[in-house]
Amino acid sequence: MQFHHHGYVSTDPRVLPAEGIGLDRPDELPDEMDVLIVGTGPAGMIAAAQLSRFPDVHTRIIERRPQRLEVGQADGIQARSVETFQAFGFAEELSCEAYHITEMAFWKPDTATPEHIVRTAQPVDDPQDVSEFPHLIVNQARILDRFAEFMERSPSRMRPDYGIEFLDLTVEDSGTHPVAVRVRHTAGPARARSGWCAPSTCSAPTAPAAACAPPSAAASTATRRTTPGV
Ligand SMILES: Cc1cc2nc3c(=O)[nH]c(=O)nc-3n(C[C@H](O)[C@H](O)[C@H](O)COP(=O)(O)OP(=O)(O)OC[C@H]3O[C@@H](n4cnc5c(N)ncnc54)[C@H](O)[C@@H]3O)c2cc1C
Repeated sequence: MQFHHHGYVSTDPRVLPAEGIGLDRPDELPDEMDVLIVGTGPAGMIAAAQLSRFPDVHTRIIERRPQRLEVGQADGIQARSVETFQAFGFAEELSCEAYHITEMAFWKPDTATPEHIVRTAQPVDDPQDVSEFPHLIVNQARILDRFAEFMERSPSRMRPDYGIEFLDLTVEDSGTHPVAVRVRHTAGPARARSGWCAPSTCSAPTAPAAACAPPSAAASTATRRTTPGV
């Protein structure tokens, strides 16, 4: 609840006012951006979530999958990782929906009757008590959703760009956006993108024009420019 001169206004304090790029963020991947992150796995999403708090930096995150991760491979979340989630404000929410591991059970074939299994150990999960947070089991897809939510609520209103695959990049010696990146649409509507393939017309990392394939329906390539080190 926030107090205003014209009364109480109930808002979600996690949704921050849009600023900078968040005021008119282009829906499509632009020709030029400051940071391009490739891949919406945990590494990419945490970097993007952090950068989403800086609306003066135009960051995009691309993913070759056509949509959000639906079923991840990972589901064990170490307690110290939950500390990281606290920094993004969703540790408590995630902890509420997760299974908490307190001990583990190990089983192996019974030596007397190998067709049967027996429990051989039942250790406490975290005897050193490494964190105030618990060891959780929750699917990776849920965690990535939380990072996506964090980005969307940030001043930059960042959203992953799905269905775009990174192909390669080249780095030029000069310019504010000297990294030319070639990308390919793996999903989504067909679009003409020939102008983006010409390095001279691009404003981020460049690739040789000869390397750019002609635009086609679902697999057009495009060159984007961004800053080095991405
Ligand atoms: C079977 C299995 C079980 C696991 N269980 C656990 C567990 O319980 N707990 C745990 O902490 N860790 C677990 N891990 C490890 C965990 O999944 C990885 O450490 C983690 O996913 C690595 O994150 P990442 O962001 O570096 O890479 P990834 O999760 O691999 O993400 C990379 C992303 O980049 C995208 N991508 C790749 N190339 C391109 C491209 N050219 N253009 C656009 N997008 C691209 C991919 O589609 C993907 O979405 C497990 C791993 C496996 C394989």
